[in-house]
Amino acid sequence: MSLAWPEVEQRLGPLAEALRGADRIAVLGHVNADLDSIGSVLALHLALEAMGKTSWPVTPDPGAPYWAFLPGYDRLVVGAPEWLQPDAVAVLDTEISPERLGQAWPLVERAGLRLNLDHHDTNRGGADAALVEPAAAATGELVFYLVSALGVPLTPQIAACLYAAILTDTGSFRYANTTARTLALASALVAAGVEPHEMATRIYDTRSWAYMKLLGRLLSRLERTEDGKVAWMWVRHEDTLDAGLLPSEVEGLVQYPRMIEGVEVALLFKEVEPGVIRVSLRSQRFVDVAAIARAFGGGGHLRAAGCTLTGSLEKAMERVVEACRQAVRREVVAGDRAGASQGAGEG
Ligand code: 5GP
Ligand code: MN
Repeated sequence: MSLAWPEVEQRLGPLAEALRGADRIAVLGHVNADLDSIGSVLALHLALEAMGKTSWPVTPDPGAPYWAFLPGYDRLVVGAPEWLQPDAVAVLDTEISPERLGQAWPLVERAGLRLNLDHHDTNRGGADAALVEPAAAATGELVFYLVSALGVPLTPQIAACLYAAILTDTGSFRYANTTARTLALASALVAAGVEPHEMATRIYDTRSWAYMKLLGRLLSRLERTEDGKVAWMWVRHEDTLDAGLLPSEVEGLVQYPRMIEGVEVALLFKEVEPGVIRVSLRSQRFVDVAAIARAFGGGGHLRAAGCTLTGSLEKAMERVVEACRQAVRREVVAGDRAGASQGAGEG
């Protein structure tokens, strides 16, 4: 598998040109930071510095403390301090909106030039130069091609940030977005100095005792609908508080309901502060969870999406579970109909 991706490489021109022309660039990720966001931000920041630019890696929130091993993490700016006056912002892994940029949004208003690189097909555009490519498994994949278009050599540091981005957005190469190209990119990053075992240990296998004990409690509350097709787990604000953990430390939990045999839609409800519920949605094969998330003001991908509800945890669970139950039912009915008409045709 060759690394060449002409459709992307050709469309990166205006973005690379705009970055070459800017001097002071803030690279921004999204709220509820994940490692695709932070890894992509750090990788592009390191590349811009290598070009001699003044650059700041910015995140609306710092994410989980065990991401601190990432090269450049100590330089992350949280929010939009007054002293930070960029002439361009490069927004990664999300569309450019106040909702998705949270407390980093004022930087967008300060900057004259707005650049955007993303892989969400819910991205509605609005940048001065942008590339949105939903076929990329992670924004980190697109940053790989951008760094190359900028003529910056792939250092072990940049490679580590991109590997973290790709590894996590593909669920360790398990999700349906993993392609031959994803694996070829990962291979190139390993050749550039990334140690896969080291990365996996840091990202997945470094949890505190308190985290594991809390996980045990949360697992014992797994729930599912009667048909077993929708399963969910929830975290109250007090759960993390009592365990001495930050809500941001408790991430990735949606994998547990998703693992259950027969589950089509998996949900995680996390009360990040009292009355504010972050919902993660995942589907296995046929339900469009981005559409469900959008109905609650969120967005994302076909198989991985999110939204935020306010009010009680119980009410949020009731509403979202019901929407998923209905979506599953619609798809099953549609599938039966297709199966029946196909059967008739064959007969
Ligand atoms: P997660 O469940 O991991 O937080 O998010 C899954 C996917 O949905 C990610 O690609 C994330 O960027 C996207 N996503 C999560 N929450 C939101 C939201 O509130 N709005 C939009 N537009 N996308 C979201
Ligand atoms: Mn992403």
